Amino acid sequence: MLLQVEDLFVNYGVIQAVKGVSFNVNEGEIVSLIGANGAGKSTILHTISGIMRPKSGRILYNGKEIQKEKSQKIVSGGISQVPEGRHIFAGLSVLENLQMGAFLRKDKSQLKKDYDNVFERFPVLQERKNQDAATLSGGEQQMLAMGRALMAAPKLLLLDEPSMGLAPIFINEIFDIIESIKKQGTTVLLIEQNAAKALSIADRGYVLSVGKIVLSGTGQELLNNAEVKKAYLGG
Ligand code: ATP
Repeated sequence: MLLQVEDLFVNYGVIQAVKGVSFNVNEGEIVSLIGANGAGKSTILHTISGIMRPKSGRILYNGKEIQKEKSQKIVSGGISQVPEGRHIFAGLSVLENLQMGAFLRKDKSQLKKDYDNVFERFPVLQERKNQDAATLSGGEQQMLAMGRALMAAPKLLLLDEPSMGLAPIFINEIFDIIESIKKQGTTVLLIEQNAAKALSIADRGYVLSVGKIVLSGTGQELLNNAEVKKAYLGG
C-alpha cells in the first residue's frame, strides 16, 4: 500500500469537515474520491499534503506516518498536489512555472529528461514556454498545473478537481492525460465532482458524504451502483 488514511478527523475551528475517514491507495492505481460540494474532499487532500493538520487519525505513506510532517518534506518524499483552481504563477513564464515544480528536486541530472517528458505530454506548453502563464486558457493552465506537479517527480499525484470550469473538449483531454500518467507509473488520487468521468478512469473509488465515506468499490461497481447513479450521475 502506498497511502493509508486511518480514521482521519479534520476540523476548521468548531466545524467538523472530515469525520473518521479511512481509505487506501495501492501503488499504480487511480483512486477517485467523489462527493458533493462541501463533502470534505479538498480538506482530505490538504491534510495528506501537510497544508492542514488532522485533529486525530493517521496518514501512512510507504508505511510511515506523515500527518505531522511539513509540506516540503512530503513533497520531497514524492507526494505532489495539483490544487483546485490551478494556482499557476501569473507574471512568470510557462517554463518558470515548471521550474517552480522542480524546486525541491535533488536529482538535478534527471531534470532535462523530465522537462522533455512534460513537453511531450503537453505540446502546448512547449509552444508557449516563454509566454506569461496568465495568458493561457483554462485548459492550458490545468495542463501547466499538472506539468508543474510532475516536475517534482511524484510517486503519488493528488489532483483536486482537475476538470472544474473546463470546456468539454478539455475535460476529455485532461482525463486521457491522467490515464497516461498512471500508465507511466505514477499513482493518482483524484477528487472530482465530475463523478462519471472520475469513476470511469478509476481502479477504485470512494464516495464521501458530509465528511464520511459512505460507499466504496471498483470504479465500475460504483458507476453501476443505484445510489451513486441517483445522487451523482444525474439519474
Ligand atoms: P468543494 O468541492 O466545494 O471544495 P469539498 O468536498 O472539497 O467541496 P471541503 O472544501 O473539504 O469540501 O469542505 C468540507 C467542509 O469544510 C465544508 O462544510 C466546508 O464548508 C468546510 N470548510 C472548508 N474550508 C473551510 C474554511 N476555510 N473554514 C471553515 N470551514 C471550511
